[in-house]
Amino acid sequence: MIDPFGRHISYLRVSVTDRCDFRCVYCMSEDMTFLPKADILSLEELERLCSAFVQLGVRKLRMTGGEPLVRRNIMWLFRKLGRHLESGVLDELTLTTNGSQLAKYARELAEIGVRRVNVSLDTLDPEKFQKITRWGRFDQVMEGIAAARDAGLGVKINAVALKGVNDNELHDMVRWCGAGGYDLTFIEVMPMGDIGGEARFDQYLPLSTLRAELQKQWTLTDSKFDSGGPARYVEVAETGRKIGFITPMTHNFCESCNRVRLTCTGTLYMCLGQEDAADLRAPLRASDDDDLLIAAIGEAIGRKPKGHDFIIDRRNKGPAVGRHMSVTGG
Ligand code: SAM
Ligand code: SF4
Repeated sequence: MIDPFGRHISYLRVSVTDRCDFRCVYCMSEDMTFLPKADILSLEELERLCSAFVQLGVRKLRMTGGEPLVRRNIMWLFRKLGRHLESGVLDELTLTTNGSQLAKYARELAEIGVRRVNVSLDTLDPEKFQKITRWGRFDQVMEGIAAARDAGLGVKINAVALKGVNDNELHDMVRWCGAGGYDLTFIEVMPMGDIGGEARFDQYLPLSTLRAELQKQWTLTDSKFDSGGPARYVEVAETGRKIGFITPMTHNFCESCNRVRLTCTGTLYMCLGQEDAADLRAPLRASDDDDLLIAAIGEAIGRKPKGHDFIIDRRNKGPAVGRHMSVTGG
């Protein structure tokens, strides 16, 4: 699959549910309205869709959400998709999780062939964790991360940089990740979905500022490492681990974009930051063979936009796109 700008699309991110057991302040409002259950694709339908993308050349699949591990029977989907790893048509099957269910599933994920997981964790302070996630349980996440490591999974911690919230514990996080053997990626907060009350401008911390702060204590060297995602990496000499920076706001990473995103209702977003989308549920359900579906995917890739138009400043406090990250899958 090649888009109009010559980019090879080899990476599919799938939001398997928009539901979550947390209510992170930058992601959801506390009284979120979720999609009606009737609109959600079955696991069998998700499997068929993912497999069609693999047939078309996708080499990397990431399950996300919402919280992927709260979807009932989700291991069935992982197991089914694991067969593409065995046959060699898929390079990587992975997930992004808040970690709450990892203690339960880490071993099984490793058995299926998942090699690494991204766990979102913005703070090491249990009280702050409570404030950020509203409903999360810090100890449960810590147990989940340890279980993932013990199961042999590589762990990357994803932290959203939040001004006045976690900017005073950046060094602690680098140290903690170094000691645990985890890589760490910082993400700039993106203007997605109405989150009630909180103004984006107040949360937004440019990673250029964050990197300058880190350099006061750590020796950072630019790395050529490429995870196939939008992060740029540095090596930390003192810990031997990597730190990634995902900077959609300060650095436009669209030119090398290799991905598209599928929601749990079968809507394909060709860009995280644009409203344009293609409905794949109708062609999926219209017939038992995949011809219509494959034609619809091809047509959608043919209109993948060049990039996003995120802006956060004093005049632009509202969301750039109306949907929440939990719908498109972060
Ligand atoms: N629930 C899982 C988790 O938290 O890892 C997966 C879904 S979550 C939407 C994926 C990632 O998106 C998380 O790392 C989260 O911190 C990030 N995220 C959510 N809303 C965001 C926003 N407005 N700006 C930047 N990152 C955001
Ligand atoms: Fe849930 Fe992840 Fe959004 Fe937090 S960031 S509310 S854990 S989907």
